[in-house]
This record gives sequence, structure tokens and C-alpha cells, in this order.
Amino acid sequence: MALFINDECISCGACISECPNTAIYDAGETWTMADGTALDDDTEHDPISEDHTFIVSDKCTECVGFYDEPQCVSVCPVDAIHPDPNHQESKEDLLAKKQRLHGE
Ligand code: SF4
Ligand code: SF4
Repeated sequence: MALFINDECISCGACISECPNTAIYDAGETWTMADGTALDDDTEHDPISEDHTFIVSDKCTECVGFYDEPQCVSVCPVDAIHPDPNHQESKEDLLAKKQRLHGE
């Protein structure tokens, strides 16, 4: 399943550069599917949170296809990143998502 960032987040930004899918954005930042992927959809979407750093679930593969563990979780100093019960996906789903994002 994709991960999400809860209200414990202090917006330190440490997780952002760890994401292999560019799925993590600063509070209030617009985002696109094309950022950091092989997709050409550069439609700008509204921020998911104005209050703290957020994860775009359509771009989060829980790091499947890149790493054994979610990289963002391991660097978060306040344990603010958790599985999102609203976006449950199997490992196979996550691998297929990674292949859709990166074309490989
Ligand atoms: S789990 Fe991996 S893919 Fe998902 S937001 Fe964190 S670093 Fe990015
Ligand atoms: S590492 Fe944790 S506290 Fe820092 S921006 Fe990411 S989710 Fe927020």
C-alpha cells in the first residue's frame, strides 16, 4: 500500500530526497506525475496538504522495485510516515505501479 504522512510531521524535508519516485512534496507545493518519472503527464495538481510535507499515493510504491524498505520511513525523525489504509496494494500491484511510472 502507499504510505501517508500524518500531522506529526515537522516538515523537516529529510524524506523528500530519499524517494526514488519523487512522490514526496513540501507543504503547499504543486505536483505532477512527470516529476522524477518516465511519464509525460506534466499536469500540475493542487497540493495534498498545505500544513506539512505530503506523499502522492499514485506515485508511492513503498519503494518496491528500488529498495527492501521504505526509504522515507527510515529517515523520519518523528515517525510520521505510515501505511495508508485507503490505498491498499499488494507487492505485485506496487511493482506494476513502479513499472508504469518508470517504464521498466
Ligand atoms: S515509501 Fe518510498 S516510494 Fe513511497 S513515498 Fe516513501 S520513499 Fe517514496
Ligand atoms: S522526514 Fe518526517 S518530519 Fe521530516 S518532512 Fe518527512 S515526514 Fe515530515
